[in-house]
Amino acid sequence: MSSVVVTADRAITHAGAARDATSVLAVDGAIVAVGDPEAILADPRATGARRIDWGRRAMIPGTVNTHNHSFQSLLRGIGDDLPFLEWREKALYRYSPKLRAEDMGTAALFAFGEMLLHGVTTVCDFYYINAQGNDHATATIEAAKRLGMRIVMARCFYDWDGAPASYRETIPQAVANFESLARRYQDRERYLTSVQPAPHSQHGATPAMIEAGAGCARDAGVPWHIHLAEEQYQVEQSLERFGARPLHAVSKLAVDMSQMIAVHGCWFDATERALLAERGGSLAYCPGSNMFLGDGVTDLVDLVAKQVRVGLGTDGGCSNNRVSVLDEMRAAALLQKVHRTDGQAIDAETCFALGTHTAGEVLQLPVGRIAPGYRCDLVALDLDDPSLWPEQALEKNVVYALSSRAITDVVVDGQEVVVARQLVHVQLAEIQVRVSELTRDWRRGV
Ligand SMILES: [Zn+2]
Repeated sequence: MSSVVVTADRAITHAGAARDATSVLAVDGAIVAVGDPEAILADPRATGARRIDWGRRAMIPGTVNTHNHSFQSLLRGIGDDLPFLEWREKALYRYSPKLRAEDMGTAALFAFGEMLLHGVTTVCDFYYINAQGNDHATATIEAAKRLGMRIVMARCFYDWDGAPASYRETIPQAVANFESLARRYQDRERYLTSVQPAPHSQHGATPAMIEAGAGCARDAGVPWHIHLAEEQYQVEQSLERFGARPLHAVSKLAVDMSQMIAVHGCWFDATERALLAERGGSLAYCPGSNMFLGDGVTDLVDLVAKQVRVGLGTDGGCSNNRVSVLDEMRAAALLQKVHRTDGQAIDAETCFALGTHTAGEVLQLPVGRIAPGYRCDLVALDLDDPSLWPEQALEKNVVYALSSRAITDVVVDGQEVVVARQLVHVQLAEIQVRVSELTRDWRRGV
């Protein structure tokens, strides 16, 4: 048994923002007690515990990134500001098929290492370049393990023949590969690695492929992910092909929508939002990416009012181009306020929850809250950083004003993975060399 006590001057816990010093006691990576430092240290389970003292810092739950594509960090800057189809042909489809398993490992170290430094402790990697096997996904999961990060591998189910061959599988291949990856990595004790199926989208997966992915989710007792209604043309396409808007078309398939995590939903109309709420489906919301690509504005305010579970996501590092969930909290709030021309459309506390504990609920993991029963994933913020002054309204300042410079330390499952703004297990210099060698000859739009 290994126990740890983490103490900070301030905290945002399940009970709200605490003005006083707070300690967290975790045993084998799970939080068992939260409270006044003296009381926590007197707990018999704290005897012999390691001590992490975050003086002059605030402790917040680690943030949860419900949607990312790690390999896309390699393409950052390569396709920015190009029309979508040109970007897809000249950047994505040109470079991504060349990536080998080792390169996927480099991309994952890069994306996840940068995320950890921004306070992301759980990442869901929606993974669609599988080359008919699991070597790429395995290299990606192993990179997360090496960094000490919690990962959900959303393994793609993809069969659209317009994409490069390395994206595509037959249904039996996708099912067999998903099951073998899940057998190896599904961790139902500490939840450090999870595997969930992800039929790509209505354009990337046939109805039969979507049903196969949802079927694997049902068999494994996990949620499933699908991109839906990201861009307006996808609504037109769904109406043409299936005679129904995207969510209605999916609802006609043999799938369990209560286990579905729709990604984006920018163009869900009122009937689709009502249907999502009625069926108990979830949403991964990526406001930074939606703005970057000019996709549109998801009606987050309405979805939250309808009690749909929503988690924030950064999306890929070449469509945002940041990888910080704390940034997405701010982006979500600002975008919704301007979209409704209402400064009270949504508040900081709601957006903070979307990047922490409701995101954990979306992924069905016990993360995102500083409370007993949750995994011990914590981030320390420097209270001497001016972006957190004055100190009276910590949650507001974290969402609206925080500079990433203030993020000093990160703990995942009770283990320190960032200390004094440095990754603990992998040198950033190693990642930099690998990324620059891999992308040396890559060029924008040629
Ligand atoms: Zn995506």
